[in-house]
Amino acid sequence: MSYNIAVDGPAGAGKSTIARAVAKELNIIYVDTGAMYRAMGLYMLRQGINPEDEQGVTAHCEEADIALKYEDGVQVVCLNGENVNDYIRTEEVGAATSRISVLPAVRRRVTALQKELASKVDCIMDGRDIGTCVLPNADVKIYLTASSAVRARRRYDELTARGQDCDLTRIQADMEERDYRDMHREISPLCQAEDAVLVDSSDLTPRQVIEKILELCKR
Ligand code: C5P
Repeated sequence: MSYNIAVDGPAGAGKSTIARAVAKELNIIYVDTGAMYRAMGLYMLRQGINPEDEQGVTAHCEEADIALKYEDGVQVVCLNGENVNDYIRTEEVGAATSRISVLPAVRRRVTALQKELASKVDCIMDGRDIGTCVLPNADVKIYLTASSAVRARRRYDELTARGQDCDLTRIQADMEERDYRDMHREISPLCQAEDAVLVDSSDLTPRQVIEKILELCKR
């Protein structure tokens, strides 16, 4: 049996930073499920399929072969064999992704891949529905959140550091819109699993959050 940690929460709560660090400390694999959905979002944009076009997305989502590989401990997202790490982090892809990830066909395909991965390796997986749907029997479940102002500021700093031009007010508005969609969609909405531990990172440093999670894992 593999050891699995589930981390869920809204965009910008710090899930990936924290999960990556915890994976390193525990020497387990970090699985960024958002990156898998983003690869699917990128595929639709590249094919010129409108993310709002349910029939179009459903008809074409089986064509996207999404795989995760690990090179020197770094996660590489492959879309039909191409490393797309550099193309999936834009706001455009993020917005398209949150639209297509409401669709049953997309969720079915990506969820199956995630379950298979987690059954084979010890991992910490982050996303929106990990504790509730993907890994209901995870050994540890965390719901990581922070206020939308704090989360928008973090995303702004992250994008600016990468040289991307962006607007803080716009980011916060987009983030709130995306949270709403993620929390209110019919299938696998973002919500805290009953047995998940709530961690609010608004006033915590990344190190403090990491320590908290390591502590929960030890228990
Ligand atoms: O976490 P990240 O911002 O990279 O995720 C991008 C989008 O992918 C989210 O806004 C959400 O719509 C979708 N997603 C999801 N389920 C997951 C992970 C991400 O629906 N497990």
